[in-house]
Amino acid sequence: MLVYKFGGASIADAGRMAALLPLITEAKEPLLVVMSALGKTTNALEAIVNAACKDQKEEAMGLAKKLEQQHLDHAMKLLNDSYYSKARNALQGHFEALALAIQTTDPKHYDRSYDQVVSLGEIFSTCIFSHWLLQNNLASEWIDIRNVIRTDDTFRDAVVDWDQSQKNAQEIGAILNQGKVVITQGFIGATADGLSVTLGREGSDYTAAILAAMLGAASVTIWKDVEGLQNADPKQFPNTVKINEISYNEVIEMAFYGAQIIHPKTIKPLQNNGIRLYVKCFLNPTREGTMIQQEVTAAYPPLIALKENQVLIQATTRDFSFITEDNLSALYSIFHDLKIKINLIQNAAISFVACIDNREDRVAALIPALGENYKVTVNEKVTLLTIRHYTPEAVDDLTKGRQTFLRQETRKTVQVVMDGSPVGSLQ
Ligand code: ASP
Ligand code: MG
Repeated sequence: MLVYKFGGASIADAGRMAALLPLITEAKEPLLVVMSALGKTTNALEAIVNAACKDQKEEAMGLAKKLEQQHLDHAMKLLNDSYYSKARNALQGHFEALALAIQTTDPKHYDRSYDQVVSLGEIFSTCIFSHWLLQNNLASEWIDIRNVIRTDDTFRDAVVDWDQSQKNAQEIGAILNQGKVVITQGFIGATADGLSVTLGREGSDYTAAILAAMLGAASVTIWKDVEGLQNADPKQFPNTVKINEISYNEVIEMAFYGAQIIHPKTIKPLQNNGIRLYVKCFLNPTREGTMIQQEVTAAYPPLIALKENQVLIQATTRDFSFITEDNLSALYSIFHDLKIKINLIQNAAISFVACIDNREDRVAALIPALGENYKVTVNEKVTLLTIRHYTPEAVDDLTKGRQTFLRQETRKTVQVVMDGSPVGSLQ
């Protein structure tokens, strides 16, 4: 069997949604479709829950009405009268669930309230799409994945109960065995008490990987509006190149250093089960895309990731004493206790330097905590550049004219902390 995942951009309007039909009918094996919410629906739902939690429930209901109208318009453009009226009835039921979730939001339990509201975007989109498949006489079935993916109650970042979910997933396997396409939601699940949860923003890739692992899929394909993975973010650099093949490990490294390619949790279930991942362009489905698997023999171009808006913090001993293992362990504890992730560290005889994300509240707590025993120096608004498989030319090009504060180099990787963002041309 195969798993296809469609993101918000691939279903953003009725035309795009309609164009996915041939991809599905031409699949050569039983197919499970995992779908995100339409376009920017998740952001719209976040605005709704934020208003509701600020006690602006009327404002929230107004925004929900607008969202409902957008979904009805989308369905109306896509479907004929008879399927539109079925889809409308179903959608109205789901929007009643949204209204209830808005009315019962509780600012004291923001994350829980968030999940009851935000999880509905994927229910709306798949509801429309499943009616489109039925209208086209495709034997298919809509599944509410909240009855399958069981999680704990870490709302907004729920942890999957693999055993229970795997048992539940057999229901999907049985439907696929009947020769039907299964269409379901990414990003969401439910607790044992039946409360909805989300798996973290952009989590639909992860859902596709979980289900692929549980059902023994041959591969997962993530359909995007770009032609596979590029060696850098095309929004940041004009001359990126497409990567034809890349290993799981390389994708994990790049995601860790800030490349926004695939949800980082996606890779592990696939790697553990040796399931290939393809990233392909739904606008150009015959093109090859990118294949992600265990081993890759082809040489990589330089792979570039940027983390912007970083803070570089230096802690220096006041009495010029050396930084020893003792100090290091105390320093790490300070970061750990404040839940600050260190993106890069370097330590010298009397100083310790760390590059971290600019989370203002946390940085504000960190500086006095370090200041108790150390002299602290801070550089704000710096950029962490990571180049895997670097060439000297790529490093020169990307750091040209920049003030650099720190540079680390291993056989495969160069990392530079520098001011602002680089405007290299990647030639
Ligand atoms: N709709 C969710 C989001 O935008 C999940 C996803 O797209 O993967 O974060
Ligand atoms: Mg989305």
